[in-house]
Amino acid sequence: RTFASLGVIPQLCESCAALGFKAPTEIQVESIPHALEGRDVIGLAQTGSGKTAAFSLPILQSLWEKPQPFFALILAPTRELAYQISQQVTALGSAIGVRAATIVGGMDMMSQSIALSKRPHIIVATPGRLMDHLENTKGFSLRGLKYLVMDEADRLLDMDFGPIIDKILKVIPKERNTYLFSATMTTKVAKLQRASLSKPVRVEV
Ligand code: AMP
Repeated sequence: RTFASLGVIPQLCESCAALGFKAPTEIQVESIPHALEGRDVIGLAQTGSGKTAAFSLPILQSLWEKPQPFFALILAPTRELAYQISQQVTALGSAIGVRAATIVGGMDMMSQSIALSKRPHIIVATPGRLMDHLENTKGFSLRGLKYLVMDEADRLLDMDFGPIIDKILKVIPKERNTYLFSATMTTKVAKLQRASLSKPVRVEV
C-alpha cells in the first residue's frame, strides 16, 4: 500500500517520503480513507503506531483545499507530546505552507499571545493553557474551527482535563470533524466520545 492509494494528495505523499515513511502504518491505512471522506474517527492505538500522521494528514489535506486560520486544534496531555506533534505536523505540512503554534503550560503567555495573533492554521495545545488564552487573549477565538483532535484521550482524562475539555467543546463549532485517539478504551473515554464525536468510525490496531 501507498499513501497515494489511501487518497493522500501528491504534495503530502512527498512530505511522507521526505520523512522516510515508505508505506503507511496499519492505523494510517485503517483511518485515513475514512477521515478523508469526512468521517469522525476514534482510534485505539499506542504511541509508535503512526497515529500522529494518521490524524495530521487528513487535516493538512483539507487545509490545503481551503486554507483558513485557526483551522484545527490538537489537544495533548503533556508539553512534550504537544511539541512532538507540532514538529511532525509542521514537517508534514511544510510542502503546503502550514503554520502551527504550540500553546502549553509553563511557557511565557505573552509570546504565545503573539504567536496566536499571527493566526496560525493549526494549534497544538495542552488544555489548561489553551483555556487560559481563550479567556484572556484579546481577539483569539475558535469560532471557525473545522477540526478537533484529542490525542491520548485516556491520559487527558486521567490528568483531570475533562472539565476543561467540556468548556472547550462549548466554545468551538458543533459542525466540525473530531478525531479521538487513545491507548485504552475506558468508561471516561467512552463518555467523552459520546459528548464530542458524531457517528465515528472506530479503528483499532
Ligand atoms: P507516533 O505513533 O505518531 O508517535 O509515530 C511514531 C513514529 O513513527 C514517529 O517518529 C513518526 O515519524 C514515525 N512514522 C509515522 N508514520 C510512519 C510511516 N508510515 N512509516 C515510517 N515511520 C512512520
